[in-house]
Amino acid sequence: MAARLAGRDPAGIRLIAVSKTFPAEAILALREAGQREFGESYLQETVPKQAALVSADLVWHFIGPLQSNKTRVVAEAFQWVHSVDRAKIAERLAMQRPDHLPPLDVCLQVNVSGEASKSGVAPSELPALAGLVASLPRLRLRGLMAIPEPTPDAALQRARFRHLRELRDALVPAVGPLDTLSMGMSDDLESAILEGATMVRVGRALFGQRSPAP
Ligand SMILES: *Cc1c(COP(=O)(O)O)cnc(C)c1O
Repeated sequence: MAARLAGRDPAGIRLIAVSKTFPAEAILALREAGQREFGESYLQETVPKQAALVSADLVWHFIGPLQSNKTRVVAEAFQWVHSVDRAKIAERLAMQRPDHLPPLDVCLQVNVSGEASKSGVAPSELPALAGLVASLPRLRLRGLMAIPEPTPDAALQRARFRHLRELRDALVPAVGPLDTLSMGMSDDLESAILEGATMVRVGRALFGQRSPAP
């Protein structure tokens, strides 16, 4: 509905089902309903789920905070990573991505909420990071991701997402086309779609409430 409001073709918006904390059976149930792309944040629970679901032909997106001692699993077992926010992580992913796999699709996570959020690269440091990632082998820079601070204020939601889109647009002359804006979750996905999201990452609205993180 938000797509139609924004005059956008729903086919241009990919739904990433965020399955963190939910078991393999819940993923399989959505797979049978036609959903192929899933997002995960905690590697220790994802690895066994991936093993249980090898035959399900899924596309895995890593969307959680990424420490440098965890990059190898992401480089080997995911098609996408949305949360690259510093050079060291990008360099390790490029080094560890196996040659027999296609390049790892990468979004840079940007802090569009200033003081209110700690994760993500600062907008002022984004051009340098984007330039580096675009130059690394075995990575394909696809776009930007953000998790703005939660707010019921739709105008503020839209301002944050608009900022991310403008940052993406400003990078294109230097790094080439960036086709992905990963923005919008259960509580703000309409605002994100109105501002040009190409991927929305939705957990609770699909799977129900989560119990606390492991
Ligand atoms: C958990 C999570 C989501 C999904 O959040 P919901 O509010 O359940 O839709 C999306 N993106 C990231 C990065 C997450 O960690």
